[in-house]
Amino acid sequence: MKQAYDVVIVGTGVSGLFCALHLPETVNILMITKGQLEESNSFLAQGGICVLKDAGDFESYVEDTLKAGKYENDRTAVETMIRESREIINELIALGVDFDKEKGELVYTKEAAHSTNRILHHKDVTGKEITSKLLAAVKQRANIEILEQCTLVDLIKNNKTAYGVMVYYKGSYHAVYAKDIVLATGGIGGIFKASTNFSHLTGDGVAIALKHQIQVADIHYIQIHPTTLYSQKQGKRFLISEAVRGEGAYLLNPKGERFVDELLPRDIVSARVSEEMLKFQTDHVYLSVKHLDGEYIKKRFPNIYEACKEEGYDLTKEDIPVTPAQHYFMGGIAVDLRGRTSLKHLYAVGETSRTGVHGANRLASNSLLEGLVFAKKVALDIKASDMFLAKGPIGIPIIEESIEEIKANYETLLLEAIKRKDENFYVRWFHKQYKCG
Ligand SMILES: Cc1cc2nc3c(=O)[nH]c(=O)nc-3n(C[C@H](O)[C@H](O)[C@H](O)COP(=O)(O)OP(=O)(O)OC[C@H]3O[C@@H](n4cnc5c(N)ncnc54)[C@H](O)[C@@H]3O)c2cc1C
Repeated sequence: MKQAYDVVIVGTGVSGLFCALHLPETVNILMITKGQLEESNSFLAQGGICVLKDAGDFESYVEDTLKAGKYENDRTAVETMIRESREIINELIALGVDFDKEKGELVYTKEAAHSTNRILHHKDVTGKEITSKLLAAVKQRANIEILEQCTLVDLIKNNKTAYGVMVYYKGSYHAVYAKDIVLATGGIGGIFKASTNFSHLTGDGVAIALKHQIQVADIHYIQIHPTTLYSQKQGKRFLISEAVRGEGAYLLNPKGERFVDELLPRDIVSARVSEEMLKFQTDHVYLSVKHLDGEYIKKRFPNIYEACKEEGYDLTKEDIPVTPAQHYFMGGIAVDLRGRTSLKHLYAVGETSRTGVHGANRLASNSLLEGLVFAKKVALDIKASDMFLAKGPIGIPIIEESIEEIKANYETLLLEAIKRKDENFYVRWFHKQYKCG
């Protein structure tokens, strides 16, 4: 690790990687990740990535996104994302991403709250397919250094400008200076007892922003996914993708009765599932695909089929127990359409940012796309900025807290902040059911 780079990117999910790939090869970049390279939520994405199928779908795609978001979205951000979606998909294909095809044509599928088929996928491991291809491309770049197990613990900044990051690496703290810093630190699932996210994703970027009064928005908008595989084990919950309901799966109560339209938006389905659980005093309901073609289900959802098998369930022959869990963070560090935060030279992108695309509730398969579209915009803005101008010397802040104290502090800070803005039924429900603290 050097003491200074042109750009430091924190996070190696799709957002961080795509941003790095759009910066010129003459730019010195450091990418860091708290865990291993494969440990990002981007790797976990199953269902797929949305794209504007044809120009005639523009208005309905915008409307589906706004409706799911309870019209609290930023319409310009939504339109920008949708308008640029095809270009992003073409870039992914050029990088070797293999979306499922039939007779040589891309296959578009549907998920909850989409009025038409507009989701591309690679079996049920779309995130792994996209992220591994981006990672392979990044590894080819001589200008990009990647460090695993390297944790962002703070920013180096003054009132107006970010100058670098403080990281914890191999047992000690290091100050790393950069002309521009990109936070692509992902979601907050790690602070919940039950989440589909990797447990090291604890909202560090947002917590650091809160600590420094960098503007955040909508941090009480937390998405609870209605169908994760029920387990008594602690840790990451396995997601049963919306695409399974898109293919016709039923949700059943303990009496074997359907109780909700399975294709309604996530927040509504989660609420109905939780009500049904309360009614029957149980900690799960059931998902059933027994009425669908078993061979097709195995082919379409090989990863989900195997994960259920490992837990002792044959998805094609029996109903499987499912329960809601924290899944996605709609709020985050407030950014403009170029990914700029309220602190100069600090950018945020992907799940840690709040562009306004998702409003109060995210439409399925919009998050990979959001991360990719705005990561490219961040890179273009950095390229066009005054990044090559030299900056004056700055002091190195002394961090006196231990890593455990820093981690505990920002988790508490984030939880408190969320609680103070807690007007949302699902958050309240979730706190009651699962939350620590
Ligand atoms: C199970 C599951 C299924 C999903 N399915 C879909 C889907 O089908 N379609 C869709 O569009 N979306 C889906 N999503 C959501 C989507 O995957 C994520 O929102 C998206 O990938 C986030 O990308 P990101 O680059 O912002 O963050 P991530 O991919 O989560 O990456 C965050 C990165 O930041 C690093 N990091 C965090 N904190 C620090 C720190 N302090 N220091 C250093 N590094 C740090 C992490 O190590 C990681 O590398 C799914 C999510 C999950 C959990």
